[in-house]
Amino acid sequence: TRKKFVAGNWKMNTTLAEAKALGAAVAKGVTDDRVTVAVFPPYPWLTAVGEVLKGSPVALGAQDVSSEKKGAFTGEVSPAMLLETGCKYALIGHSERRHIIGESETFINHKVHTALEEGLSVVLCMGETLAERERGLQERVFQRQVYAACAGLTDEQFGRIVIAYEPVWAIGTGKVATPEQAQEAHAFVRSKLRLLYGDKIADSTPIVYGGSVTPDNTVGLMSQPDVDGALVGGASLKADSFLAIVKAA
Ligand code: 13P
Repeated sequence: TRKKFVAGNWKMNTTLAEAKALGAAVAKGVTDDRVTVAVFPPYPWLTAVGEVLKGSPVALGAQDVSSEKKGAFTGEVSPAMLLETGCKYALIGHSERRHIIGESETFINHKVHTALEEGLSVVLCMGETLAERERGLQERVFQRQVYAACAGLTDEQFGRIVIAYEPVWAIGTGKVATPEQAQEAHAFVRSKLRLLYGDKIADSTPIVYGGSVTPDNTVGLMSQPDVDGALVGGASLKADSFLAIVKAA
């Protein structure tokens, strides 16, 4: 059985003071390691939030990472820098980076390789747009996104990936996927992992759901056999709602 994974993606929110208070409240509220819990603050707050998480089971992650290891890449943040701030994870391929910033699948694959080579674990995000779902193309999209993002990884590297299924139409819209829609997507992605990497990886890789997760809809989503946790945006900005989601997972 896979351990549940619940992460808070704070996106481009919080002041430094708010980030420290939110991190401290989450750390205080997570008292056991039944569920793997991680928070993803903005880059400039990583070190400070890492400090308040010390001694707690809550892990730190970054919302993005450079595709390069070091050098003349103005504005980029390397995996080694993230590790030094205390990060264990990096989000890669979030829909806001794919669709608003314009990251390509080749670029995402490059980031996944660099992050894993440098020792980070990766939360790899994927999911279809509303137009793709309306045309029934979601499975084609998942297949393309999984194959493109993960091309060329070793089994050991794949063991450090968490997949986040985040349908674009459910992100920040209040329109959560039904438990059945999430299960169908997760089972399809897992079947592709089985073809690509075999049973061991397919059965051990956590596949978490993201998109308008709240304390109220968590139990239904988590009751599905292939839904292994949640990637939470808006509801992770309040400690009590995020902790309620952790509790319900
Ligand atoms: P919301 O929970 O605000 O819909 O955001 C989901 C998300 O994008 C998490 O990465």
